Amino acid sequence: MLPPPEPVAALAARLADVDERIDGALRQAGREPGDIVRIVVTKFHPARLVADLVQLDVGDVGENRQQELSAKRAELPELDVRWHFVGQAQTNKARAVRAAASVVHSVDRARLADALDAAADADTPVLDVLLQVNLTDDPARGGVQPEGLEALAEHVAALRTLRLRGIMAVAPLDEAPASAFARLHTYSDRVRSVAPDAKWISAGMTADFPEAIIAGATHLRIGSAITGPRPIRG
Ligand SMILES: *Cc1c(COP(=O)(O)O)cnc(C)c1O
Repeated sequence: MLPPPEPVAALAARLADVDERIDGALRQAGREPGDIVRIVVTKFHPARLVADLVQLDVGDVGENRQQELSAKRAELPELDVRWHFVGQAQTNKARAVRAAASVVHSVDRARLADALDAAADADTPVLDVLLQVNLTDDPARGGVQPEGLEALAEHVAALRTLRLRGIMAVAPLDEAPASAFARLHTYSDRVRSVAPDAKWISAGMTADFPEAIIAGATHLRIGSAITGPRPIRG
């Protein structure tokens, strides 16, 4: 077979490099290599990049804007890949998010959970959701404040068409990721006291995924380290 064209080779090299670093951190944490879901966040990149990633055996991709997610799915209808929605969702976009995503990482209020639940028709598959927790005091960063976690977990766990899988967070800008992710682990314990099967911890981006792995992350959301720098948004 001919070698792939240069851009795919460069993508493959970055992917291999990140995966090696992931396995190194897993070993350091006493975990098995490969014992994690690595989601490649493709926001602002063209749909073509997702197709290239799938050629490289990537099975999980992430988007943070509903319109972009829906557009890429429409452009790549046959692609065998799980789409993760990791961005802030407006309640009035819940139906579109639900139609396009297999997993929603960013449920941070009961109203959004209700809207996602109400968007299911009789034959809509159950939707995996995570609760986004805010690790800062700034409401603009998104996520439920830790005080509200148990109540939100109880609310979501009672919705028939959603399956509560765990929690998600973005590291603060002004705190070492290791300490923030250690806190996140205690929040995960609190959610599991309400919903014992909600074991997923979605944490770790380009700048901090090794720390997230050490703190027990089960799902990484890695963008630019794999995709290269994001194009300027048009
Ligand atoms: C963009 C984004 C990522 C990936 O960011 P990188 O720093 O490029 O790895 C992860 N999570 C969320 C919620 C994002 O919006």
